[in-house]
Amino acid sequence: MDISTTPTDRPVDDGRLVEILANPGFGTHFTDHMFTVEWTPEKGWYDARITPYGPLTLDPATAVLHYAQETFEGMKAYRHPDGTVWTFRPEENAKRMVRSSRRLAFPELDPDDFVAAVDALVTVDQRWVPDNADGGEKSLYLRPFMFASEVFLGVRPAQHVTFMVIASPAGAYFKGGVKPVTLWLTEDYTRAGRGGMGAAKTGGNYASSLVAQQQATAHGCDQVVFLDAQEGRYVEELGGMNLYFVHADGRIVTPETGTILEGITRASIIELAGKLGHQVEERRFSIDEWREGVASGDIVEIFACGTAAVVTPVGSLKWDGGEAPAPASTDLTMRIRTALVDIQLGRADDTFGWMHQVC
Ligand SMILES: *Cc1c(COP(=O)(O)O)cnc(C)c1O
Repeated sequence: MDISTTPTDRPVDDGRLVEILANPGFGTHFTDHMFTVEWTPEKGWYDARITPYGPLTLDPATAVLHYAQETFEGMKAYRHPDGTVWTFRPEENAKRMVRSSRRLAFPELDPDDFVAAVDALVTVDQRWVPDNADGGEKSLYLRPFMFASEVFLGVRPAQHVTFMVIASPAGAYFKGGVKPVTLWLTEDYTRAGRGGMGAAKTGGNYASSLVAQQQATAHGCDQVVFLDAQEGRYVEELGGMNLYFVHADGRIVTPETGTILEGITRASIIELAGKLGHQVEERRFSIDEWREGVASGDIVEIFACGTAAVVTPVGSLKWDGGEAPAPASTDLTMRIRTALVDIQLGRADDTFGWMHQVC
């Protein structure tokens, strides 16, 4: 893939950039450039380019606005102490985007081209990758996404598709230290059914989760937990994070249902926990196992994971008419969290070969 570059003639000035990177928040500031490549059945992928960051002009009949044919990814670039910039297992994001694309009837973007696109954007905007000399956990959040850009109101896979990458500096997810998230168990809504889109990273799954998240917030909880759609019995995941249950004998169980979104953090933790001597089971895990395990003390820790928060301890679980308290410990959770963050930020040896140097 040949990528042309048109640099911006109005980059954010150095003084303003220092201010932004001192307190980036999440998802509000964007870098100077963006990556775009387009697809039609005749041309395949064409016109790969880096251009100044800016708004898109879309015809009101652009298909994605009506039928939500869209997929996305979420990943981060990290500045290591020696100044070099790295991403974490980017080829896994690339492969997952291919799987999501198949489910959404999109053309496939070659994983090598996906990684090249991300690398090209991070390289031109490398001054936007924050350092962590203060011991923090800042990064440059990367958002690759694909959408139906054909102007057509008929219902069929789009014949014009656009893939883009944008980037946004991100602060530590937890301000003032990691603290457990409280969860609301929704019995009204599910996020994914058999044969549905649960295993694809697509905006529609998030659209359907918002009302459940609203209920969680109304009940004073941070996040919502979804159960399987068929029996309403098996734990799936949070709106955007996978779950783990640590048992007193050291065993760790993480839900496997066929309808969860399998996180790259999730897969990495399975490997990491194995190396730390823990047996990890991927299987169906019922909500009764959760309630009884916490009550009996057999479940000693629960945590959630995803690119944004990395790993977060799970506190209490509330539902209509009841509550399961937070498990007693967060020791292993924090040990796994530190091990992963240290690899990502270049503070520990990358013994798994997970890191990819960008520049
Ligand atoms: C992205 C996502 C995750 C976490 O995946 P990571 O690759 O670890 O960031 C978990 N659940 C859902 C629904 C997601 O969209």
